[in-house]
Amino acid sequence: MNKKKLHVTEPYLPPLEEFIPYLEQIWESKWLTNNGQFHQELEQALCDYLGVKHLALFSNGTLALVTALQALRIGGEVITTPYSFVATTHALNWNGIKPVFVDIDPLTFNIDPSKIEAAITPQTTAILPVHVYGNPCATDEIQVIADKYGLKVIYDAAHAFGTRHEGQSILGAGDLSVLSFHATKVFNTFEGGAIICPDAKTKQRIDHLKNFGFADEVTVVAPGINAKMNEMQAAFGLLQLKHMDKVFTERRRIDQTYRSTLQGIKGLHLPQIPPQVDRNYAYFPVLIDNDFPFGRDALYDKLRAQNIFARRYFYPLISEFQPYRNLPSACKDNLPVATQLAQQVLCLPIYPNLSHAEQMSIINALKSA
Ligand SMILES: *Cc1c(COP(=O)(O)O)cnc(C)c1O
Repeated sequence: MNKKKLHVTEPYLPPLEEFIPYLEQIWESKWLTNNGQFHQELEQALCDYLGVKHLALFSNGTLALVTALQALRIGGEVITTPYSFVATTHALNWNGIKPVFVDIDPLTFNIDPSKIEAAITPQTTAILPVHVYGNPCATDEIQVIADKYGLKVIYDAAHAFGTRHEGQSILGAGDLSVLSFHATKVFNTFEGGAIICPDAKTKQRIDHLKNFGFADEVTVVAPGINAKMNEMQAAFGLLQLKHMDKVFTERRRIDQTYRSTLQGIKGLHLPQIPPQVDRNYAYFPVLIDNDFPFGRDALYDKLRAQNIFARRYFYPLISEFQPYRNLPSACKDNLPVATQLAQQVLCLPIYPNLSHAEQMSIINALKSA
């Protein structure tokens, strides 16, 4: 039994003394927010790191999603996935948009492109897919459909920091991509987020929208919101960025240990990821099927009793939550794959400071089950 609670994730915190010089600079300048020096530096540093041209920082990922939809003036109906964190659909709701759920692909956990066309109506304006667990969506197939019907595509890339496909950043796909830098994510600024923008003009509009719609001191161009990242968050992001190589190395180590030790447990499946994907090791999902000695929820409870706090991401489905369950597209018959996977999935602890001994205790708990 672990004395320490092993959560599904734990934020990576660089040594505290490394943060002090940043704080001193903030105290010195007395510039706390509103596009300060660290904010500008982090936008540039993230563009360089992620291999994208333009990026607008946000106070969190949810407001970035809400603003991305505003920036493209999305309305009517939007096609999305039920297999995600609830903020994906909430962002539509906050814009008065009707979510239309489409089922997922059983191998990638992402929206199934072959089921999108059947969900398009004259009211459809956009598609909002999610790169679940950082696994890239079928971006090419989705784009073909979007082009055919004149739809916008906004990717919820909250899990996809640093993921590459055939050596390319996946953040350039579609019209906009949205990142989250929440404490539980691979790269964090305590709270935070960003929109990847295709050009300077789009970034400028998004920058206005996140600052109440101000274009200058006396001009408001839209009913914007306050979604600005502050200097403390931005400074922490700059420091965190210096540690990302180590973060990914440690996550890869843990991923590989799980992969090599959990093979061959009856009833426990490891999802396969295509070799052309450079993963970010954000999550470690396993699937529990009928051959396992007991059900997924019983395993979840048994692990908790041993201080191992695995999480059922994503259960319940978004389409099962009260605000959405009465939508026609929320019915289980429309979402058989997502419904099935939500009953089977368990995400195991993975984070840089998970020690080998702690990980072995998780592996042994699973094997002895
Ligand atoms: C974390 C997350 C969000 C929300 O991001 P916040 O920064 O917490 O607001 C949105 N979508 C997905 C898929 C997420 O995992």
